[in-house]
Amino acid sequence: AVELSDVNKSYGTYHVLHDVSLRVGQGERVVICGPSGSGKSTLIRCINRLETHQSGRIVVNGVELTDENSRIDHVRRDVGMVFQHFNLFPHLTVLQNCTLAQRWVRKRQQSEAVDIAMAFLKRVRIPEKAHRYPGELSGGQQQRVAIARALCMTPGIMLFDEPTSALDPEMVKEVLDTMVGLAEDGMTMICVTHEMGFARQVASEVVFMDEGRIIEKGAPEALFGSPSHERTKRFLSNLL
Ligand code: ATP
Ligand code: MG
Repeated sequence: AVELSDVNKSYGTYHVLHDVSLRVGQGERVVICGPSGSGKSTLIRCINRLETHQSGRIVVNGVELTDENSRIDHVRRDVGMVFQHFNLFPHLTVLQNCTLAQRWVRKRQQSEAVDIAMAFLKRVRIPEKAHRYPGELSGGQQQRVAIARALCMTPGIMLFDEPTSALDPEMVKEVLDTMVGLAEDGMTMICVTHEMGFARQVASEVVFMDEGRIIEKGAPEALFGSPSHERTKRFLSNLL
């Protein structure tokens, strides 16, 4: 589970997150949406401490994220992240991308790491690309490798930051299908996305952010069907 209480975050003097509170329980799937610059990426990056917050509490699987915390590596190991741009290592094959962190962070033997990697590459339906380089794959395939790579670490929580927004339309579905499969298997997920169909299908809760604040949250039918705030209405009407 992930719990944020009154989290504030600034970049220098620029106050980006204002008193953000959010709870994501085991097996829940939260979708975060909101306009550009509203702090969605910052929020998600604070959860695996790619960014640090200045006040409030962030607790991941019972461990509070603080400066002193030597358990941050432990937390990070249990939190998988998939970015908008796939961030694969271009000089490594798909299989090497999927085994590297397993070897060094999880300390798995090569043969075990390969078995696990191949299992997840099958799961995202591209085992035949194992010996290719990222540059030889389509965007949708690269993103599925990025998801497989994260899953190889057997995380308890997956963070997605607009995983489909850099993809051509025909590749969006294959990535969303992979994410739906994860959701159906009970993965705890926090996804920044504007894919409303995906949100309706899998989200236990949708959160709308604007200017660094959570404006409202609710079940997808409620938030999309009858948003309470003017800002949410305006944002959603612009999406269609
Ligand atoms: P988008 O939908 O465009 O991805 P976002 O909701 O993810 O937007 P963030 O990337 O979290 O928004 O950015 C929130 C605000 O913080 C923006 O005004 C941005 O310019 C600012 N910001 C983000 N990263 C930094 C940084 N490293 N240094 C300074 N300001 C930053
Ligand atoms: Mg962003």
